[in-house]
Order: sequence, then structure tokens, then C-alpha cells
Amino acid sequence: MKLYEKTAHELHDLLQAKEISATELTAEVLAHVDEVENKIGAYIEITRDKATADAKAVDEKISRGEKISALEGIPCAVKDNICTKGIRTTCASKILENFVPPYDATAYNKLSAQNPILIGKANMDEFAMGGSTENSGFHVTRNPHNLDCVPGGSSGGSAAAVAGGEAVFALGSDTGGSIRQPASFCGVVGLKPTYGRVSRYGLVAYASSLDQIGTITRDVEDCANVMNAIAGHDEMDSTSTAAPVPDFTKSLVADVKGLKIGLPKEYFVKGIDGEVEKSVRKAAETFEKLGAEIIEISLPHTDYAISTYYLIAPAEAATNLERYDGVSYGARVNGIDVVDMMTNTRTEKFGAEVKRRIMIGNYALSAGYYDAYYLKALKVRTLIQRDFIDAFKNVDVILAPTAPTAAFKIGEMISDPLKMYLQDICTVPLNLAGLPGISVPCGMTSSGLPIGFQLIGKALDEATIIKAAYTYEKNN
Ligand code: GLN
Repeated sequence: MKLYEKTAHELHDLLQAKEISATELTAEVLAHVDEVENKIGAYIEITRDKATADAKAVDEKISRGEKISALEGIPCAVKDNICTKGIRTTCASKILENFVPPYDATAYNKLSAQNPILIGKANMDEFAMGGSTENSGFHVTRNPHNLDCVPGGSSGGSAAAVAGGEAVFALGSDTGGSIRQPASFCGVVGLKPTYGRVSRYGLVAYASSLDQIGTITRDVEDCANVMNAIAGHDEMDSTSTAAPVPDFTKSLVADVKGLKIGLPKEYFVKGIDGEVEKSVRKAAETFEKLGAEIIEISLPHTDYAISTYYLIAPAEAATNLERYDGVSYGARVNGIDVVDMMTNTRTEKFGAEVKRRIMIGNYALSAGYYDAYYLKALKVRTLIQRDFIDAFKNVDVILAPTAPTAAFKIGEMISDPLKMYLQDICTVPLNLAGLPGISVPCGMTSSGLPIGFQLIGKALDEATIIKAAYTYEKNN
């Protein structure tokens, strides 16, 4: 096995034992990036010089006989909507093409304290709007398992980098499934933490009441280590929770005896691919054999989740994206007066999907429609939250498909936005309810594409879904 295919914890052991050096590891990953990046396209920017210099510093530390952290010297990718001081952060948008943040996002700052090696900033759908990475303002990312297929999105670059050996782990963001769905499409592990568990400070805002930074890794153990690095209260984000953060590596125990797992019947209905359904049900059987109790449950408002999400998220996006006016942030396209300049800037620099969402959002918020659309969506959001509260009275975790299908072909859905939106049915309810979810690989389709299931946890209970995911991984 090549070094770039190993997990972070395997590489950590090799580094600490001085069997490999961080310089050697980084050079191998960068050489692999040079080999495959023109096919996969996982990155917007590769931070080669920084990576090489940082690896050298880690090696010096090891040679002094010092102990290194779990992620020290491990090559990683960071989604390009997470601000990195002095490193271009574009959100895959032409409007931020030359934006170099003067500060770090808290999550990246915390991660950097562990001294991983940043290989680059990962491609994504523009402003995280999409589920295929085809909406990037720069290029499409391809699925390493099949280059004709999408890697999912919007954190498609992060997931493709980890699956394709271009990074060992990655940070992504998830507003309606953008960590879990690409993780599932690329055959890796993706965790969206509870809303507020990880600071959003320095995450370029898409829909602020839904956005959450999380992890994309090769296995559950790496997920626990990256979560340990990034979770926790931040006074710079008033929505970040002050709840104590457990040591997530304590959840790396293979035991689900007595665990009550709910299977929501609404997640196994029309539109779900037969092979996906079969794999997820097989995973339920595996859990049962390992001593868990499987209980059929109902989340009755699931059907309304897509419409609710596609009102709330665009409404928040329309508001958040007002700041890109050619004055305070990003690109400017001149005009004959200020209004003309703003119009030209936004017309030329935003992509089609971003414009569509701004229009939907402003429409839903406009006088006369506000009550009928936005306010109603907020009420239905509460009903969806209550569905989960009720369900969690009887079960500890919920098991469902991550996405209704495996990765689809590039170009297959891009001309039909509604079809693309419907893909998010299994992931958006968690964001609306603020709950944590982890996507875990559970097999392959007959055409060789990964399938993933999702474990949904109670608010702030990442520990239990990590433990269940770990148990499955160890026994599969
Ligand atoms: N696919 C969803 C959307 O387009 C989710 C995106 C996300 O989680 N950032 O909004």
C-alpha cells in the first residue's frame, strides 16, 4: 500500500516511530497529486511550498525526540469556503477569485494548531450551492472511482481528494448534505456535527442557520481525531455551543449491544435506488447481528423537508450574498454609475445556480410572499425538528441512506435543478433540525460505485454515532 492511501492514524504511527518522515510523506502525496490532479480536479489551489516547509518543521520536531499530535505531519485538504489567512479562499466563485483572507476560520486555526500539512484548498460548488461540484466557477471535480461521474457536492473536492489519495483527510462544510453526500459518493467517511459544535467563524456564509463545518476521512478513527481538533465553543461565533466537548476517540469502541436503531420508513420510498436500499438494509442486519435492536420508526414530515430547505437556504443565501456588491468584497466590474457597477459585477461574477438561489430567496422574503413562503417554511422546520425529538424518545440513533442513489454521471442532472434538489431528501432534514450525521461506506453498486449509509444522532451526541459507525466499520 502506498503512503498516500493510508489513514492518518496509520501514518501517525509511522511518523512517530521514524519509519517515514513528514517530508517524504508530503513529497509522495504531492507527486501523486501531480499525477492524478489533471484527471480528478480536486483542488482550486495547491499550497506546495507551505506544505514542504511545514513538513520540514514537523520532521525537526520529531528528530528532537518530541511527541507529535495525532494529525501532525498528515497531509490534508480544506474546502475553499473556509478562510485561510494569506491563502486565497474563493468559494469556487469568480466574485471571490482573488480574495485572500486576513484571518483564519476558527476551525482551520484549531486544526493548524495540530500541525497537519495543508496540501491545498479544495474545489466545491460555488458558495456551496449544489450537490455535484459542477457548479464550481472554475472546473468540475471528477469521482476517483469513475471519472465520468460526479464526486457529489458541494464538498466534492474535499471528498475526491481523500478518496483519490490527494489528501489523507479534509475539512468540508454541510448546509444540506454537502459533507455526507460526497463522502457517500466517494466511499469515505463524512461527519456533519451538531449545529454549533464547530465554530462557523470564517466559514463563508451560505445559509447561516444550517451551515456547519465537519470532517471527511478514510475511516472513523480519523474522524474522531479530526473532530477532537476542530470542535468547541468559540466566542467569535455566537451560535457555537458552550457544551463540553467529549474526547471523541473514547467512542472508538466496537460495541452496539442494546443500542436502539430506528429505521425511518419515509427514507425508503420512491426514488431510492434498489442497490442502495439493499445495502442500507444489509447494514441494518449487520447492526442487528452485533446486538443492536432495529426499530421501524416514522418521521412524518420528511416529505416537506426539500421544499422547506429550498426556501430557508436560498432566503438566507440571498441575504448573505448581498455583501458581494463590488465595494466591500471581491471582484468589481465597472459601470456608468454605482447601480450599474453593482449590476455588472453580480451579473458577470455569480454563476447561474447562485443567481437562481438569490432570486428564489428574495422572492420568498419579499413583501406579500414572506408569510406564504418563508414564515411557513420556518413553521414546517419546527415540525421536522419535532419529528426527530419524538423519534429519539424511542431510539438512540437513526439509520438511513445518505443519498437515494450512488454517484451520477457528470452532466446528467445539471440541466434539471429540481431533480438535483430532490437528491438531498435524506440529508437536509438533519440540517433543518441541527442534528449530527455521519456517512459510512457500506458497499458498492454493480457498476463499482460506492454506497453510504447515514447514522443520525441526538443533538450533541456525535459520540454515539461515531461509536456505532466504528462498530460497523470493524465488523464489515
Ligand atoms: N445540495 C444542497 C444545496 O445545494 C446542499 C449544499 C450544502 O450542504 N452546502 O443546497
